[in-house]
Amino acid sequence: MFPTRRSYNTNPNFSENFRGEIVEPGTTRYEELRLLFNGQIDAKPSLILLCRGVSDVCEALDYVRTNDLEFVIRGGGHSVAGRSTIEGGVVVDLREMRSVRVNPAKSQVSCEPGATIGDLDRECSLFSLATTGGIISCTGVAGLVLGGGLGWLMGRYGLACDNLVSATVLLADGTIVEASESHNRDLLWALRGGGGGFGLVLEFTLQAYSLGKVYCGSTIFDFSDASRVMTAYAEFVETASDDLTLDCVLFTDADGSKRIAIDGCFSGENTSSDQTIDRITNLPGSISNDWNWQDYWKFQRSNDDDLREGRRSYWKSAYVRHFNRDFVDRVIAAFESVPSVHTIFTFDHLHGKVMEFDASTSSFGHRDCKNLFLINANWNSDLEDADNFRWVRNTYTDLGFHDTDSSYINYLGSDESGRDGVAFDPGVRKRLSEVQRKYDKKFLFSRPISND
Ligand SMILES: Cc1cc2nc3c(=O)[nH]c(=O)nc-3n(C[C@H](O)[C@H](O)[C@H](O)COP(=O)(O)OP(=O)(O)OC[C@H]3O[C@@H](n4cnc5c(N)ncnc54)[C@H](O)[C@@H]3O)c2cc1C
Repeated sequence: MFPTRRSYNTNPNFSENFRGEIVEPGTTRYEELRLLFNGQIDAKPSLILLCRGVSDVCEALDYVRTNDLEFVIRGGGHSVAGRSTIEGGVVVDLREMRSVRVNPAKSQVSCEPGATIGDLDRECSLFSLATTGGIISCTGVAGLVLGGGLGWLMGRYGLACDNLVSATVLLADGTIVEASESHNRDLLWALRGGGGGFGLVLEFTLQAYSLGKVYCGSTIFDFSDASRVMTAYAEFVETASDDLTLDCVLFTDADGSKRIAIDGCFSGENTSSDQTIDRITNLPGSISNDWNWQDYWKFQRSNDDDLREGRRSYWKSAYVRHFNRDFVDRVIAAFESVPSVHTIFTFDHLHGKVMEFDASTSSFGHRDCKNLFLINANWNSDLEDADNFRWVRNTYTDLGFHDTDSSYINYLGSDESGRDGVAFDPGVRKRLSEVQRKYDKKFLFSRPISND
């Protein structure tokens, strides 16, 4: 059984050794720090320990362990499901530990656990390097890598987790170990997309690649063309080269009109090596075609305004195994009734190098399906909560998905903590449970992973 921990109890010795900030309820600072990216998550922790260095993190872990307190770790704070906060427990907040170090000789980049992918992209760009990450720059590297990490370079280089070369990890017993190909290889494997919960990662080292500009952009169509565009998109994801990663987004424009877009990022040398971009831009009926060569790190910031911090969010996702006419029709009908102009439907394009890695190298779940569908619902007011939650759940069912369908752990919603199993095959789940029992015997960092 999962041990029940006591509620907050001040340790008088604690603050002496702690260089960071101890943030208690009842202060403006607390109100500011307790919030996550998803404004709908409203948990009130008993204490927030804002760490400034490794010794602070060790102090914090020692404190929660000694006092038998429930706690969570916070990296970038982007977990839409709210996994980096806890009602009545302690938040070990790493958001001020953001330094990044590039090693050009090894083409590697190392960062502290509060770094964002924007931090990583910018530092790498100064050495004409890039590593594969997510598509919104304020997303934390920590949760992204520990859960998988889909991004624009994945066709060419794999997921962010596949590129985790090594990690420095604080274990439940207070020891600090390296997880790499030569040390604690099973732990490295689990950290590569297994969803976290094996220890607290103090440093991530990722493989980087020589990359300057990318050819990227978007072709937008009126919603009346959605059927044709989605059907074409389903074909493009099959034919695109590994250098070209696409996505398809259904959204509402600033003037209130519904639209559909095919976006993409080409990271090869010469666009003539892939006809897909021409085929996208030549699809009849486009409203706009905006593709050009851009610095990769700048392109990585271009979508930041679309998903704004503090909005209320609820996500539901699944891999699409039958991208057929019936599915397309249902998606279009569902989006017709979307209750919020901020809600989008997205299709992520898993392909190329993503499919070359496997369960022997990374614990990331499903690599057998190219299309991952996400209902990314966003709205502004708590008065709209009930309508939006209901609509997302009904839409998910109407589209033919079930809660048992496979999905991506980083895209699970706030009421889906019991659904982690759908992110992994049973064999991987069993191995993750073994690694957890080896490195976190008393389940300090997370609940026991069931292996059935
Ligand atoms: C706007 C937005 C855009 C996104 N875009 C993408 C995308 O392009 N591609 C993609 O794959 N995903 C994307 N995601 C999902 C994202 O990958 C996950 O939300 C991810 O968990 C965020 O990581 P974080 O560190 O910011 O989150 P946090 O909320 O801080 O943490 C997430 C989980 O990781 C654990 N954790 C954090 N730090 C550590 C640590 N140092 N050691 C151990 N455990 C730790 C936390 O306890 C929690 O369980 C996006 C999410 C948002 C909100």
